[in-house]
Amino acid sequence: MNGILVVGSVALDTVKTTEGSSCDALGGSATFFSLAARCFAPVALVGVVGLDFPAEHRALLCARGIDVSGLKTAPGKTFRWSGKYGKDASVAETLATHLNVFKDFRPKLDETQREVPVVFLANIDPELQAEVLAQMKSPALVAADTMNFWIGSKPDAIKKLLSKVDIFFCNEDEAEALADRPNPLQAADVIASWGPSVVVVKKGEHGALMRVASRFYIFPPFPLASIKDPTGAGDTFAGGFLGYLASCGVYDDVDHLKRAMAYGSVLASFNVEDFSTRNIENLDRDRIDERFHDFVDRMSVPRADELLKTRARTVSA
Ligand code: AMP
Repeated sequence: MNGILVVGSVALDTVKTTEGSSCDALGGSATFFSLAARCFAPVALVGVVGLDFPAEHRALLCARGIDVSGLKTAPGKTFRWSGKYGKDASVAETLATHLNVFKDFRPKLDETQREVPVVFLANIDPELQAEVLAQMKSPALVAADTMNFWIGSKPDAIKKLLSKVDIFFCNEDEAEALADRPNPLQAADVIASWGPSVVVVKKGEHGALMRVASRFYIFPPFPLASIKDPTGAGDTFAGGFLGYLASCGVYDDVDHLKRAMAYGSVLASFNVEDFSTRNIENLDRDRIDERFHDFVDRMSVPRADELLKTRARTVSA
């Protein structure tokens, strides 16, 4: 198969924000990622749900072209996460994490899955992430994400994993906690020294940073007047980012990586406009590209040398 293989959580989320709430809604890192990335490239999802996982959620993923043959059903309950957000939408307060069927999940990839060129190890137990990676034949690109829950409980497993990862995504506070550094730039330097050639640090409503070859690139968020539910912003960001790279088959060119950052920001902006996966379920590439062009247009600043030439012409006229 061409495209992307993702392993991560498929969840039922209960979320409260300043704009409302949702209970046992479709969520999980692999779910948000897949719904974003499938707009660019074929996606195969590896994960596990319990017997209580609603059939319509699986049907939705199927209907969006996501290969769910690797989404197993195990006796027990689906992974559940609940959290709330205050005025600062970039900070999620976790109220409860119930791993449930993920506790005993031991993924076994089939031959086709082992040959997929791009792998995304979405937020889940780093030991599970490593188990999946060990089964891949020779992926062209390995990317990973994590969160405070795992940084607090399994930091050594994350560091070990990072030596085999090309692109690492994390939030600002997660980067600082993992690297034990007081700011995101220092933290990204430390993380890059462990392996990843690209480190993406997401700063929620304040945009994102990308470190490539010792250089930092800065990106604003797509401006939105109100955010309904930030859950899944990080995963949809990664879905837009890796989906775009997979669709080009180019993984290390800085211009492609910059465009990937913009696509990531655009996908995250769609996601936060509604609860759960509602606003990304029906996205298509045309709507994404329209916002992408709007975004890069708003970001672009004329170079100073062009301004100087214009000024010189005005003065001599
Ligand atoms: P984010 O993109 O960081 O907002 O990811 C939110 C998603 O991560 C939610 O849908 C949760 O179900 C999922 N999640 C939360 N905690 C964990 C965890 N410890 N491991 C795996 N997935 C998680």
